[in-house]
Amino acid sequence: MKQEICQSCGMPLKKDPQHGGSEKDGGKSKLYCSLCYNLGEFRQDMSLEEMMALVENVLVEKRIPRFIAKFLAKQTPKLERWREDR
Ligand SMILES: [Zn+2]
Repeated sequence: MKQEICQSCGMPLKKDPQHGGSEKDGGKSKLYCSLCYNLGEFRQDMSLEEMMALVENVLVEKRIPRFIAKFLAKQTPKLERWREDR
């Protein structure tokens, strides 16, 4: 079973105060958190590299050791949003 984490930033959707972003019609998104996704659009227009740096910094701010934060940030490219082949 797929873990319920945001497919943009990797945050567990359970930890999202709003339990997921919103679609255009106001429904809940099961893929993305409210910090990444609002009314059917991504809130931030950022590159994968920027997202990985952001994820690492947010985790370090939460007192997660840097090497673990780096490891978790490296999982970002596996998420749905970043997996397209170009
Ligand atoms: Zn997110």
